[in-house]
Amino acid sequence: MTQPSLDQYEIWFVTGSQNLYGEETLRQVAEQSQEVVAGLEGLPVKVVWKPVLKDAESIRRLALEVNARDDVIGVMAWMHTFSPAKMWITGLDALAKPLLHLHTQANVELPWNEIDFDFMNLNQAAHGDREFGYIQSRMAIPRKTVVGHVSNPAVLAQVETWQRACAGWAAVRTLKLARFGDNMRYVAVTEGDKTEAEIRFGVQVNTWGVNELAEAVAAATDAQVDALVDEYVATYDVAEELLPGGERHQSLRDGAAIEVGLRSFLEAGGFHAFTTSFEDLGELKQLPGLAVQRLMAEGYGFGAEGDWKTAILVRVANVMGAGLPGGASLMEDYTYDLVPGNERILGAHMLEVSPSLTTSKPRLEVHELGIGGKDDPVRLVFTADAGPALVVAMSDMRDRFRLTANVVENVDAPDLPKLPVGRAVWKPAPDFATSAECWLLAGAAHHTVMTTAVGIDVFRDFAEIAQVELLEIDEDTTSRGFRDQVRWNKAYYRLAQAL
Ligand code: MN
Repeated sequence: MTQPSLDQYEIWFVTGSQNLYGEETLRQVAEQSQEVVAGLEGLPVKVVWKPVLKDAESIRRLALEVNARDDVIGVMAWMHTFSPAKMWITGLDALAKPLLHLHTQANVELPWNEIDFDFMNLNQAAHGDREFGYIQSRMAIPRKTVVGHVSNPAVLAQVETWQRACAGWAAVRTLKLARFGDNMRYVAVTEGDKTEAEIRFGVQVNTWGVNELAEAVAAATDAQVDALVDEYVATYDVAEELLPGGERHQSLRDGAAIEVGLRSFLEAGGFHAFTTSFEDLGELKQLPGLAVQRLMAEGYGFGAEGDWKTAILVRVANVMGAGLPGGASLMEDYTYDLVPGNERILGAHMLEVSPSLTTSKPRLEVHELGIGGKDDPVRLVFTADAGPALVVAMSDMRDRFRLTANVVENVDAPDLPKLPVGRAVWKPAPDFATSAECWLLAGAAHHTVMTTAVGIDVFRDFAEIAQVELLEIDEDTTSRGFRDQVRWNKAYYRLAQAL
């Protein structure tokens, strides 16, 4: 699999009007809406102009066409003139893709001295979009509303955010996730309702015996292993003992065979996310470390200890961040530095942190791992780059899924000579105590996706599209307000569900 890309996708741009205005006005509507689309050029997902919609049947037909096309991941709608909203009812009812309501105008400034009623009839989005907003609200259509002229960079930024969320949604609707082994014994938060996940997100979560993976690993050829070893040597700062001829070179070859086997299994099954379990390694010689790290960096989703919910989030974050600097990884809150005023969180995992979080050259090493009862595993050692990041967790709250997100700042780590794993050190917003209190109140997990590529706004749009709860912890969060929000959300999401 190559890195996720947004190039294969389209967003369709539809303009609403009606036949009341006559040919001349409708011709101008079409021209001006094409100019709006031209103003949207350069966004990561191509925006495609569609002929002006003037009646219920053509609107419904367009919705059906959008639904049928996998490459069309969302619809932007603008009511340039007045488009009576009853004609949108059957179309909006049929539309099964994300919707963005762009509340814009052809012109920025009003030509005050020249305005006549023809101008008013042509440029009445202020009026037509209110009619459209009404019917969307009355029908409870989930959507994003963006206000402003397309020459305003803030408008384009909001559209881009939504486009990325649409791509995440398209990815999760078709996602196949392979679990090797089950959940870590006795652990609660990594459990969840896989059937509900398929209903809510579309993702197919299924389990394979780890020895099926071990067979694929055993099938790795010497030539395949040689090629990967060459790649490792070219890409990483490889420890002397792991190099060809080194004392522990066989460990590196075993790690490479695991990568060959994992990749072939995932590719053969069309999987873009997976989980492992250190309690269930079957015939595998090592806990997969290096292989998992590299696959995450290529765009795969991953969760450790059977945690398929975090694996979904890593995949979604990788897709939503396509083409941006930074990356996404499984992360785990491990331990705190509680020095007052400079509190920091040290996050890592046994092995499985994606090197996409760093721009430095990772070191490839082998060390003992106290759990799992297998050979010492090879792993990439590095510290995530300093800079803005986001951690997001998914919890199964029994009647629904809850996402909890915390805006954080990765900081430079002190030397960690005795901690040879991928790791990150961060300061959470708004402050350590508030962040941790809110996180615990939310029942959010110790496993997260950490993304340094996309911000909370993209996850907010994703949650709106998915109609999933998102609790946000950022610079504006107070523990009192957060506690109320958790309470209200409990009631809201219960009421919002069909009986
Ligand atoms: Mn873990």
